[in-house]
Amino acid sequence: MLTGKVALVTGASRGIGKEIAMTLAAQGAVVIVNYNGSKEAACEVVSQIEQNGGSAEAIQCNVANFGESEAFVKQVLEKYKKVDILVNNAGVTRDNLIMRMSEQDYDTVLDTNLKGAFHMIKHLSRSFLKQRSGKIINISSVSGVLGNAGQANYSASKAGLIGLTKSVAREFAVRGINVNAVAPGFIDTDMTKELSQDAKKELSSMIPIGKMGTAKDVADLVLFLAGEGSDYITGQVICVDGGMCI
Ligand code: NAP
Repeated sequence: MLTGKVALVTGASRGIGKEIAMTLAAQGAVVIVNYNGSKEAACEVVSQIEQNGGSAEAIQCNVANFGESEAFVKQVLEKYKKVDILVNNAGVTRDNLIMRMSEQDYDTVLDTNLKGAFHMIKHLSRSFLKQRSGKIINISSVSGVLGNAGQANYSASKAGLIGLTKSVAREFAVRGINVNAVAPGFIDTDMTKELSQDAKKELSSMIPIGKMGTAKDVADLVLFLAGEGSDYITGQVICVDGGMCI
């Protein structure tokens, strides 16, 4: 159980982040449901959590922005006094072959997926180090582990997250803070709905288990990493991918 814990999930208005928020709340954590543009969807996540007897609040913040993230963390700490579990889940794609990839599409993906996690960890670091406990879970991707044609920006951001995870894990280990990365494979969400049927077919053929994963598959692992059962695990990258990375 996560009773008494405060969890902050970035990009929790839909998809994997929503499922993580709902799962952590179902175990008793008070959950900050962060979103960027989808206010209605985020408020709906909060309503669903409350209907299930949990506690949550939706807070807007563009994690790609250093100052906004700092103000967001300040607001959360003023009200809740601490964050025990930080899940850096917010992510975007701007897929294209590198020859056609614009600088803006490269920067947008890096700023959201990688710098967003840096902002959240940096702004919460003083609080985490003072409390001498905590769980940080960064949502990477098999794209960051294996690379993926057409996703140079996304793969770079997700591989960067793995480096960030390992370095911060080393910095925070003696203070009782675990930092791990989860690398989902091909998961059924809005992000993958945009793919063409051909791309979906090709991706599915690369999965030994033979089917797409669900947001719940990812949330169940995050729940484990957020709880006491993972106290001796840090700096790891755990794939939830039906065997894609074997
Ligand atoms: P999704 O359905 O597209 O949801 C993305 C979430 O990120 C939304 O809640 C969105 O909020 C939020 N977000 C985007 N930019 C943001 C920003 N600048 N600040 C704050 N929030 C922001 O994606 P998903 O499939 O659930 O993916 C969640 C995470 O898992 C991502 O990091 C993704 O890279 C990773 N992942 C997904 C898959 C997959 O197959 N789906 C595989 C591997 C890894 P708004 O709508 O409010 O902007």
